Amino acid sequence: MWFRLTVRECPGSLTAMVHATLQLRLVGLPTGHSTQHGRLEFVALDAAEEEEPYAVDVDCAVETMGSRVLVRGDVRGTAQSTCHRCLRPFARTLATRFEVTLQKGVTEADSEDIVSVPENAAEYDLAPHVREAVILEEPIRLVCRVDCKGLCPRCGGDLNQGSCGCGEVSDPRWSPLERLRRQLE
Ligand SMILES: [Zn+2]
Ligand SMILES: [Zn+2]
Repeated sequence: MWFRLTVRECPGSLTAMVHATLQLRLVGLPTGHSTQHGRLEFVALDAAEEEEPYAVDVDCAVETMGSRVLVRGDVRGTAQSTCHRCLRPFARTLATRFEVTLQKGVTEADSEDIVSVPENAAEYDLAPHVREAVILEEPIRLVCRVDCKGLCPRCGGDLNQGSCGCGEVSDPRWSPLERLRRQLE
């Protein structure tokens, strides 16, 4: 059985992090296995504090056993990232998973693995779990391709577009360093 999860659209700003939700329907869940699907769009900051808009599809396998609901989410989508070497935007595909167990109407405190929800809760927002899974998967260093040459440290030219010419002009003050660099190569 497929439920459509409700998602509020992300207007492309940081405040969307707070407003984008992915509601898992808890009403009328059949006992045993069922599935729900949704799409989430949100913006997060990468390690260099650049905004990264994400658009992901979330497929959830839901196992209901009495008052306990186990959710396994499969997350796939793209992020609009900024290359840390050449500073160009590029689309990055991603795939990750998360798992959360909900316990309806429990008095005991939340544990790391079990989240308590009110007995009569109609829905539960999975967006924080999706964001966490996506952010944990994110590489510290984002590059548009493994061999991205980046920018020239002197003129800022994009070295992927060819040499900027700076490398050929040598300043005599740097020559001892240049010699050292050549020895190390
Ligand atoms: Zn790059
Ligand atoms: Zn240059």
